Amino acid sequence: MRVPLLDLSEQYRVLAEPIRRELDDILRTQSFILGPKVEEFERALAEYCGAKHAIGVSSGTDALLAILMALGIGLGDAVVTTAYTFFATGGCIARVGATPIFVDIDPATFNISPATIADFLANHCQRNAQNELVDSVGRIVRAIIPVHLFGLCCEMDAINELAQHSQLTVIEDAAQAIGAEYPTKKGGARQAGTMSAVGCFSFYPSKNLGAAGDAGMIVCDDNELARHLRSFRQHGMEPRYFHHVIGGNFRIDAMQAVILKVKLPYLNGWSAARRAVADIYREEFTRRGLTNRVTLPAEPYRERGLTNHHIYHQYVIRTPQRDALQTHLAQRGIGSAIYYPLGLHEQKCFAQLGYRAGDLPETERAARETLALPIYPELTRAMQAEVVGAIAAFFADNG
Ligand SMILES: *Cc1c(COP(=O)(O)O)cnc(C)c1O
Repeated sequence: MRVPLLDLSEQYRVLAEPIRRELDDILRTQSFILGPKVEEFERALAEYCGAKHAIGVSSGTDALLAILMALGIGLGDAVVTTAYTFFATGGCIARVGATPIFVDIDPATFNISPATIADFLANHCQRNAQNELVDSVGRIVRAIIPVHLFGLCCEMDAINELAQHSQLTVIEDAAQAIGAEYPTKKGGARQAGTMSAVGCFSFYPSKNLGAAGDAGMIVCDDNELARHLRSFRQHGMEPRYFHHVIGGNFRIDAMQAVILKVKLPYLNGWSAARRAVADIYREEFTRRGLTNRVTLPAEPYRERGLTNHHIYHQYVIRTPQRDALQTHLAQRGIGSAIYYPLGLHEQKCFAQLGYRAGDLPETERAARETLALPIYPELTRAMQAEVVGAIAAFFADNG
């Protein structure tokens, strides 16, 4: 039995009619850019995640870029983030002229480790005359970008505390974590993207809430920042052809907004279905005695009374025999993927930052050992049995 890493066709089959009706409406009225349909989706998304403002943008990448621009982060600034993430997180920091400072991850969750952030702030920074935090070469540390990787929230209480103490802005890259919850000490359950100054989502087709192309969203509670972001989304234009700041074209397409609006009510059901798939994987790996061969995903918030304690954008296992296992699975028609084969600190385009192999040991080990297995709401129990059976066969031959 072939088991693809991801199959979106069944989801579309179920929703084809309402999606086509909405698209027809747009084609009939020819209102493609912003307008009431986009605003409707922005309101629905803001309500879904418990944010005051939602600003639709052209992609998750452009969301990060617009946020950094709107916060005035640029040349001479530094932003602390993880190297174990999709390129956009670090790429956008560099694109505005700032320097990404990569710190290591927690090996259990693959998320940025608050302890390594604390170590950087305490041992590699000092205060300048203006009481700003500067790094060893004089760059002003402005922000932290935690990434809620694979659908699991970072330890936001600890990260927010560190940021507050050092007066840094926290920007949540929630591209992979829409709907994921975190048990905050103060306010109880809060959703990814809404636990700090500003957050962003990606609706890339393979994300849990996927568009038919590129789209993204920024969420925040601050009125002034929201206004600023809306301006940056349209070339800093207000009113038309009067430009206050240099923004960009970061608008979401109305076509994408209506598709996403149709899908949004299903998102919680899909997240629950993904968790059910994860539970079956755990059952199957345990039943076959494989839990000493592969490390299964951690679920640190499982018993904390949350619904979406994990939304399993990816189901990522780890084993030192990762590459051989992936080849074995491919030979049996089972899809898998490596997120990510290289930490950002080791990417060629960041060579000038001067990181060396060994600088972020947990990031580097994860890059060698992780493998994402098929996970999506429509994945059948039989397909999962096939995946775990194939992994069992691999370890029987390579024990
Ligand atoms: C997908 C993703 C992005 C970028 O989103 P796009 O919509 O593809 O531009 C940014 N950060 C992370 C962690 C992502 O997974």
